[in-house]
Amino acid sequence: MRAIAVAVPVPGIGALTYAVPDEFPDPAAGARVLVPVGNRTLTGIVLSAAVEPQTSALDLKPLIDVLDAEAFLPADVVDLAAWVADYYACGVGEAIATAMPPRAWVESERHAAITEAGEARLLTERGARREALEQLSGGRIVSVGSLARRAKGIQGVLAGLEADGLVTLTRPLRGNADASRTIRVAMLTAQGNEAVDEEVARLGARQQQALDLLRGAPDGLSIAALADEDIPSESISRLARLGLVTIERRRVERMPFDTASDRITRMPVIALTEEQQAAVGALVERVSRRTYHAALLHGVTGSGKTEIYLRLAREVQQSGRGVLLMVPEIALTPAAAAIFRAAFGQRVAIQHSGLSDGERYDQWHRIRRGDVDVVVGTRSAVFTPLASLGLIVVDEEHDGSYKQEESPRYHGRDVAVVRARAAGALIVLGSATPSLESYHNAQNGRYELIALKRRVLDRPMADVTVVDMRAEYANEGPDVILGAPLRDALTSRLDRQEQAIVLLNRRGFATVVFCRQCGETFECPNCSVSLTVHKAAGRARCHYCNYSMAVPKACAKCLGPYLEQLGFGTERVEAEIRALFPGARVGRVDRDTIRRRGAIAALLARFAARELDVLVGTQMIAKGHDFPRVTLVGVISADVGLGLADFRAAERTFQLLTQVAGRSGRGEIAGQAVVQTLYPNHYSIRHARQQDYTAFYEDELKFRRAMRYPPAVALINVVVKSKTRQGAMQDAETIAVALRAPGLGTWTVLGPAPAPLGRLKGEHRAQLFVKGTHRTSMRKALLTVLEGMPEVRRRTIVDVDPMSVL
Ligand code: ADP
Ligand code: ZN
Repeated sequence: MRAIAVAVPVPGIGALTYAVPDEFPDPAAGARVLVPVGNRTLTGIVLSAAVEPQTSALDLKPLIDVLDAEAFLPADVVDLAAWVADYYACGVGEAIATAMPPRAWVESERHAAITEAGEARLLTERGARREALEQLSGGRIVSVGSLARRAKGIQGVLAGLEADGLVTLTRPLRGNADASRTIRVAMLTAQGNEAVDEEVARLGARQQQALDLLRGAPDGLSIAALADEDIPSESISRLARLGLVTIERRRVERMPFDTASDRITRMPVIALTEEQQAAVGALVERVSRRTYHAALLHGVTGSGKTEIYLRLAREVQQSGRGVLLMVPEIALTPAAAAIFRAAFGQRVAIQHSGLSDGERYDQWHRIRRGDVDVVVGTRSAVFTPLASLGLIVVDEEHDGSYKQEESPRYHGRDVAVVRARAAGALIVLGSATPSLESYHNAQNGRYELIALKRRVLDRPMADVTVVDMRAEYANEGPDVILGAPLRDALTSRLDRQEQAIVLLNRRGFATVVFCRQCGETFECPNCSVSLTVHKAAGRARCHYCNYSMAVPKACAKCLGPYLEQLGFGTERVEAEIRALFPGARVGRVDRDTIRRRGAIAALLARFAARELDVLVGTQMIAKGHDFPRVTLVGVISADVGLGLADFRAAERTFQLLTQVAGRSGRGEIAGQAVVQTLYPNHYSIRHARQQDYTAFYEDELKFRRAMRYPPAVALINVVVKSKTRQGAMQDAETIAVALRAPGLGTWTVLGPAPAPLGRLKGEHRAQLFVKGTHRTSMRKALLTVLEGMPEVRRRTIVDVDPMSVL
């Protein structure tokens, strides 16, 4: 009896084992199969590992159907997903689901129905054949799955009955239906081509016009295009009846490329800088070895990293291998895709979760068919079905968006490294502010370090001024948002018709509604955070669970009308700048203004075309973008993130400030950055002012070593959720005690303690950390403990290598 391991898309379940009935050939790894799970029938993916049938193999349930003759998901992607499931401690099906395109999970299955001949022969049949026919008798249509659950080996029986014409088997595979989009295209036939004038003259005017147009279009014209020329589809149908044209259906790809980004034009690069040349030279050599190699490209902002990626990508494409470029945010894909499309034309695809299902379907299948050499995408693109990868670039590798904050909690960059190793590819991690982990790996020789210390064309780095807001408050009162230095700097930029970016990493108008009579604040009923006022929408909203209410007019507790709004976000900053500079054209980029699809690309394109003077926004505007006319960057509150109880707070602040300062002075005119803060002496702010990465790295590494945080140790964050605070703490305590059992391992367990976000979406949360040097044994011990408490397991988040521990 053959057996296979199958991943099904059910959270928290590992691989399941099924018997393969004799009538099926060996299913390929990556092929889809229908399998019974409980009382349901689900689509699963065949895992690569051949399964040794145990002695109890006879008890295995048989699979119901094999849907693909070959791998649907490439085998290397299946293996990668299995690695993710193991490393990040999630169900293998969840990991596989991340790699699947839309509409790939078949929701239905084969059905059997009896034929007239079957009814007639019913009484003359014997055994299993008779039983099967009886089940179907009377015109019932029954799923093969439910028949299979009642009788083993039914597939073979049904196949035999079908061959004898006694039953029919259908395959209404809803999920598998070809989801390609087709259009109708009209083409001239030979007869149409040779039609003589007098023949044509007998036709109606529209028909003559259509023939004329089609003569100039050897590939045909779509019915829609002809309609645009005022030719109704009836005219085409008439021509078709006369045999002059044919109409065929053609598949068209839904193209997700933003035409707005094509407006973001780049100057062609004529000569590489010396540093770029050295980097390209070294990397081209590494990639030509066709074995795994990892390099950290540490290049200051504006040092021309993109140009290096492009030249490297061309080299790899010419050697017949594929290129994957990962960017941290959907917002950055249009610009990156436009750059690569300019170089590689049609052979570029994009993959990210912002595409419609149809677009994602088309992009995935284009890549799978081999129509694509270059894929640009966000973290999930690490599972791209691109064959024979030669190069993976992870741009802005330090960015927290690479980490998925829901199961599977994988880090796109780290999975990319694993994929590169398996593929024998070169991986380049690029950043002006590398993560502590990656720089540490470069220091200890795991990655090659390639540095670009200067901007292109010897442009100077922006000059950074730090403004102590305590002094501004002393001078102008506590309500000041833009201090005098930033106001002056903006004034001069607007006078000189240069552009400015103003950053505040917090959206909304006011961050707290506070009652002056009784001190009450408006908190989210589900989460332990205060509601943020969104003035344009007229709502007070929770940024964690999206709860919202009309902006309150009276205190909920004392009913007093003396409500005050404190704190401010980007919406307020935008209003402030409009009030201070009535002539300025101001745009805003944050999650509130880019809800509509394409909105962000349109805003960025307007800014690039200098239809806007000032762009206000959250961290979305801090990274990646290249706007040569920006000569001022203002940071409203540099310390927004510093107060958070998160060991990465300083690193994130340093990165954000360095990145946003890097948006200034990228063109011919030197740039300036004005950074407002309450903690001008904090080391992350001091080093960002000097733009001194290595000094920051050294200080931060000392802190991580002293406090035993990554990269000094491996860290697993465990969060237990419960209806009550006490319940969460108790369950977390049980886990902690079990992990501390003497002799179990050398790790340490911290906690439990209430999580910094003590309540989220109506649930209380308790947290504990497991710290140690041997990640695998830590994870195994934790999973063993959790296996013994399945009910708690369902309420527990296991986050391996967490990015955020709130
Ligand atoms: P980074 O990603 O390192 O911050 P970019 O790759 O965005 O920098 O490059 C910054 C700008 O410099 C872009 O406008 C790019 O076209 C330009 N550039 C890159 N290389 C050169 C070069 N060798 N000479 C002139 N301009 C260049
Ligand atoms: Zn909430």
